[in-house]
Amino acid sequence: MRFPLSSLYMMIKTASKLGELPLQILHKIVFCSLIKAALLTYNASNMQRAEIEKIIKGIPASYRALINGKLYLSALKFVKSFNDLIKNAKEPFILKEANIHYILDFLKETVGKVGVIVVLDCGSIPELVTLTSRFASLNHHTTILNKAFINPKGVTAFLTEQLTAFNRKTFLRQYAQLLKETLNAKAYIKISTIDLVAHQQGVTIENFLASLNMLKIFDQINHFAKQDSVLITSDHGYDIIADEHGLYVTHGYKGECPLNLSKVALFAIID
Ligand SMILES: [Zn+2]
Repeated sequence: MRFPLSSLYMMIKTASKLGELPLQILHKIVFCSLIKAALLTYNASNMQRAEIEKIIKGIPASYRALINGKLYLSALKFVKSFNDLIKNAKEPFILKEANIHYILDFLKETVGKVGVIVVLDCGSIPELVTLTSRFASLNHHTTILNKAFINPKGVTAFLTEQLTAFNRKTFLRQYAQLLKETLNAKAYIKISTIDLVAHQQGVTIENFLASLNMLKIFDQINHFAKQDSVLITSDHGYDIIADEHGLYVTHGYKGECPLNLSKVALFAIID
């Protein structure tokens, strides 16, 4: 299964030209572009659309245009191909990409060796695009691998339960360590920030954007990226759900929702 990368790269290219923009705003722009695109394909209510438009209005005017232009068009392209991909992924257990053995073999073959492993619990596509864009604007070479780990349940346990086959305990930290050993890395870190924010009671998209300290996550990764190549990945992403009260962030959502990103964990290489 090939992941639709060209539209993601378009987003990264556009976002990486905003090098001077505070990371928190860059994240907001990327996040809002994807959600705005998702709401269009979802047939959202006026109230749900108004919620995202209100957040967009809070972005400095000079950058706001991007959410109606270049970045948005790439986000729309991405969301459409992503939805097709997820629709075809209805039979998760026959998917090779849902199997850690397969993923580790793929990484060994395509990446070989990397300096440091970073596992972001609940790190989703908006964060991966934001971080990759910022590293690209700092003249790092950035790559997103053309295969992703598919997590059909959108929860950590789907991944960590597979660790017993490697004689390991079912903790996400153990996955990070397994990646470290597989790719002969020097170190690994697991960052829980995104998952903690997503688990706040009924977290609206506005709360989510305000609570998530992207700069802190960036600094933690940049500490290593200054001197080494870094592989950034996650266990699952998150979903954007829409109900009569508004738009929320969660993961492992079982119903229909505008953006079902919790099923995917990308691999980004910064070097
Ligand atoms: Zn969680």
